[in-house]
Amino acid sequence: MIKISSLLGNSQHLDGGAMFGHVPKALWSKWLQPDENNCINLECRALLIEDDNKRILLETGIGAFFPPELKKRYGVSPEHHVLLDSLETLGLTHKDIDVVILSHLHFDHAGGLLTAYQDNAKSSLLFPNARYLVSQEGFIRAKAPHMRDKASFIPELTALLEASGRMELITGDHSATLGSAYKFHFSDGHTPGLMLTEISTEQGPLVFAADLIPGVAWLHAPITMGYDRFPEKVVDEKEALLDYLAANEGRLFYTHDPKIAISNVIRDNKGRFVASEMLNEVARIE
Ligand SMILES: [Zn+2]
Repeated sequence: MIKISSLLGNSQHLDGGAMFGHVPKALWSKWLQPDENNCINLECRALLIEDDNKRILLETGIGAFFPPELKKRYGVSPEHHVLLDSLETLGLTHKDIDVVILSHLHFDHAGGLLTAYQDNAKSSLLFPNARYLVSQEGFIRAKAPHMRDKASFIPELTALLEASGRMELITGDHSATLGSAYKFHFSDGHTPGLMLTEISTEQGPLVFAADLIPGVAWLHAPITMGYDRFPEKVVDEKEALLDYLAANEGRLFYTHDPKIAISNVIRDNKGRFVASEMLNEVARIE
């Protein structure tokens, strides 16, 4: 028996055009309302799984490690590390987490691993009792990014993870730490080695969609982000995952959706994938 909770972290405001790739503003602005700077609000939502003997956190969001000028550039609010507050509402601290799974090491997914910014002090790793699960390919990319996506990574993070002695690099469908109840899907279209975790629940499979499907508006297969390295691959990988979920009454967890944490995936009467049974936030359900 597992319990799942969605945990909000710091939110960000990003350019809506960049988030919707080739989609014209006339269309995407109907899905998510931009502000006066053309930016849309995006959450950084983590998924906590409490099973019989482990507390597993899927991602840590953007956190509060950025210095003030970068917080402003990416519209990160508020100043402090919100995910730590969200854990506290469940009576937990970062020290209670046994496993942190990172889909990839872009700053808006892994920045929350770090302590909040302080003048003249280096950030250090939180979650001192956790094993950090990272895909090997994603880790290689983070250590040697392409010029095109270098700004999305945190330069000091890979050395901190290696030095912790608590990182497990994942190369296959399962991890030594978690065993067979947790399965990994891999995708390369957003960034090489993006790792999507599938959790077996009593209601069917639940997949943490990370940046393959950051929110409900990206469920429609042709919709990609300007940040995606290989958009056509994103479309193909997304279709394969959604096909699998629709056939198995599966659900998706959305890390960046401004409102929706979890939904089922079905096909509408035109054959397009759409969300059903959408839930805003959840605390210890199942
Ligand atoms: Zn990303």
